[in-house]
Amino acid sequence: MLSRKQGRANLEIDRKFDVVVVGGGNAALTAAITAAEEDRSKKVLLIERAPREFRGGNSKYTRSIRYVHDHDNYSSGPYNKNEYIADIEKATKGYTTKEILEKVVTESADLPAWMNQHGITLHHAVRGAFHYSQANAFIMGGGKQLVNTYYYDLEKLGVKILYETCVDSFSQDRNGILIKVSRNGSSGEIYASSAVIASGGYEANLEWLREGYGSAIDNSVVRGNRYNDGIPLKKLFELGAEQIGEPNQAHWTAVDGRAPKYDGGFVTRIDLIPLGIVVNKNCKRFYDEGEDLWTKRYVLWGHLVRDQPDQVAYVIIDSKMLGETLMPMYKPYSGNTLGDLAVKLGISPENLIKTVNEFNEHVPESAKYDLMRLDGSSTSGLDPNKSNWSRKIDKPPYYAWPLKPGITFTYLSVKINTKSQIFLKSGGLLENFYAAGELTSGNVYGRGYVGGTGLVIGSVTGITAGKEAMQDA
Ligand SMILES: Cc1cc2nc3c(=O)[nH]c(=O)nc-3n(C[C@H](O)[C@H](O)[C@H](O)COP(=O)(O)OP(=O)(O)OC[C@H]3O[C@@H](n4cnc5c(N)ncnc54)[C@H](O)[C@@H]3O)c2cc1C
Repeated sequence: MLSRKQGRANLEIDRKFDVVVVGGGNAALTAAITAAEEDRSKKVLLIERAPREFRGGNSKYTRSIRYVHDHDNYSSGPYNKNEYIADIEKATKGYTTKEILEKVVTESADLPAWMNQHGITLHHAVRGAFHYSQANAFIMGGGKQLVNTYYYDLEKLGVKILYETCVDSFSQDRNGILIKVSRNGSSGEIYASSAVIASGGYEANLEWLREGYGSAIDNSVVRGNRYNDGIPLKKLFELGAEQIGEPNQAHWTAVDGRAPKYDGGFVTRIDLIPLGIVVNKNCKRFYDEGEDLWTKRYVLWGHLVRDQPDQVAYVIIDSKMLGETLMPMYKPYSGNTLGDLAVKLGISPENLIKTVNEFNEHVPESAKYDLMRLDGSSTSGLDPNKSNWSRKIDKPPYYAWPLKPGITFTYLSVKINTKSQIFLKSGGLLENFYAAGELTSGNVYGRGYVGGTGLVIGSVTGITAGKEAMQDA
């Protein structure tokens, strides 16, 4: 039983564990499963801040993983290690840590089998709602199924799980690692021989985000878990952990302007941009909507919208384009004329008509339209031009979706080695502590992102951390 602290009731929890895992998403779950499987005689505890029904962090919103393979049943062709590394090096513009990148990519090849052994099935590559590629495969049932299956595994392995319990701090003393926790006004102290910190980034901490993004944060939304406010990450920095990554680098996407402030998940993402044009609140186009394949540009649009006045923009299409791709969850605004549409959006009808007319005048008459590839259907003489998929916007009714920036996860992280151990600023390692998942993402991503790698970073660092932490214990 725990001692009563001044003004706070004590939590009725066991006091001593061999391995404590902080967090409740993919990285924490893979770490806890691995630790428990490594030595079943030892005691493992997982501490998840969210209530049981909200468990699973950002991981519950995921869909796909990217991994090295020779052409399995889940994707449209082979994807080798060199291609994978090259894709990330290109996206990060070299802001990556070579040995961690090498480890993550190499070990990605083992993940489908590991996942399968732990109850996860991938979708076969059939034509349907998802866009199959060589690189990515989709999880049957999505991220919610993934986390639920891993929690089920943990229960079978006898791992103790504390829900609705926030890790407030940790420190080292002669008895091991002291972890202070709280739940509904009660507090408690737990000792661990070793700890894996896998509590995600700080994307839900608006105050901390302002350090990197200023007031643009006020009109942005947090796509994922409201509990990821970075308390454990901050505590690791206070313990002297070395930082990697910068506060103004994170994963963003454009989401529907009506998305909730937190936990909208992937259904709020707007993927229609290549079909039409995007204007800001002054009805000005500001970037090439057809610059490259959407899978290579969707992240950029989160940053672009964030940099517009009041962080708003609108994607505009006409009725020809409706049904060309998976429709967003939110209904579009519509108008029989562009003027009507502009009135509904609260933007200037004259300016919108002028921008659309100007765009239409620069669309080549001979344009061949093919959304499945870079079709070269480009405007010329516009600033900016649209490089592919240019089609006149001239068939009423007209449709629009409002856009906002949505932050997915932050890159400012603790610096780790290939054993998921944490470097100290002063030199050496933070003894008996391991880190996994988003809170280490800056080791791979100093800039940019390549789809389907968040889960892979989490699983590779999680499995490593779980194994190493149990060996320490
Ligand atoms: C909408 C959306 C879609 C995405 N789609 C994909 C995709 O398809 N493929 C992909 O690879 N990646 C995707 N990502 C990114 C991916 O979700 C993350 O990179 C990955 O899941 C991170 O795993 P994690 O375990 O590190 O963090 P999380 O899954 O976010 O887990 C962090 C956990 O820590 C807990 N926690 C936080 N603070 C505390 C505390 N103080 N005490 C105790 N617990 C705490 C949280 O409650 C949470 O359970 C997506 C992200 C979002 C938001």
